[in-house]
Amino acid sequence: MKTAKRTQTFTESVIREMTRVANRHGAINLAQGFPDFAAPELLKEAAVAAIRADINQYAITWGAPRLRAALAEKYRRFYKMEVDGEREIVVTCGATEAMASAMLALVDPGDEVIIYEPFYENYGPDSILCGAKPVFVPTRADGGPDLDATAAAFSDRTRGVIINSPNNPTGHVFGRDELEAIARLCIEHDAVAFTDEIYEHILYEGEHVPIATIDGMRERTVTVSGASKTFSVTGWRVGTIVAPPELADAIKKTHDFLTVGAPAPLQEAVAAGLESLDRSYYSKLAEDYRQRRDVLYDGLVAAGFACRPPAGSYYILADFSKLSDLPDDEFAVWLTREHGVASVPGSSFYSGPQRGRTQVRFAFCKTIETLERAAERLAALH
Ligand code: PLP
Repeated sequence: MKTAKRTQTFTESVIREMTRVANRHGAINLAQGFPDFAAPELLKEAAVAAIRADINQYAITWGAPRLRAALAEKYRRFYKMEVDGEREIVVTCGATEAMASAMLALVDPGDEVIIYEPFYENYGPDSILCGAKPVFVPTRADGGPDLDATAAAFSDRTRGVIINSPNNPTGHVFGRDELEAIARLCIEHDAVAFTDEIYEHILYEGEHVPIATIDGMRERTVTVSGASKTFSVTGWRVGTIVAPPELADAIKKTHDFLTVGAPAPLQEAVAAGLESLDRSYYSKLAEDYRQRRDVLYDGLVAAGFACRPPAGSYYILADFSKLSDLPDDEFAVWLTREHGVASVPGSSFYSGPQRGRTQVRFAFCKTIETLERAAERLAALH
């Protein structure tokens, strides 16, 4: 039986595949970015209470009113962004669906979408699913955008640019000057910024600047985030979009027909988290992640990997060329099988696989004990 040509142009998720390899070998899974520690008690209790209160039927398709109100307040409190919770928010099944719904709603077949590489693996398939052409732009060695290459990539065919800050996999946090340069190009070429800010609160250096807060960008930005990383609930599938009303209206339609809506009781619980957790929750989240980062970073360096500590997000992209001549996919499977630590092959973050051949990505959204055990296992490499 034939399958659609579009789906033949990309492979299945390498990240999820590495989780299966990790499970087969009983390895420590530093491949896929999900926490191995508990979600905040307050959210869990609120989810249970919502189910007991029979909030078990479809929520309004673009989001439960309480969650949209809490989100509007959050954007005001953290970023001084005025957001109309009635007209400018869409709640989705994770940031994953948020990006896909937004692009399906706003990008036409034949349009070009600029994607920085290395990239989070969903963006290429997202572009292809809407019939668009991904245009890949390199980043600097420190993970920052190559602004000359960005300017060269924009044209009258450009419909949008995807930004992910703090970045997976590089850990780069886009600076205001970098965002202003990208903003100027978006305005000049009448393009949309699709910004994935799922790691907005997992930050060790610098400041998180939503590109929507840069002059002239609010009306052309789709800001994606969600509960997965901030509240350690990747399995709940609650994502969020902030977009100007015209764009939000189009996104509501694709979202409605794709998924109808995100889980109703879990939307209530995320709203409770946003309403009740104060700044100390967010600073502790970042501080705890800093400690985890340092354990993994020190372990990787001691084992002979070359890498830099990320400024945000919870990944380290590490070069293993001093340790092995294997290509990245074989090295990642070998490391899982022989040393019991799973990572993601670097090539899955690049359009040309050669560029990631000596890299693997490790996630540190794990307990300190898990990371110390992983570091001990990696020490045997040296
Ligand atoms: N965006 C980025 C950059 C990610 O790294 C991830 C998960 O690893 C996601 C989106 C997925 O988010 P969600 O669980 O909300 O779909």
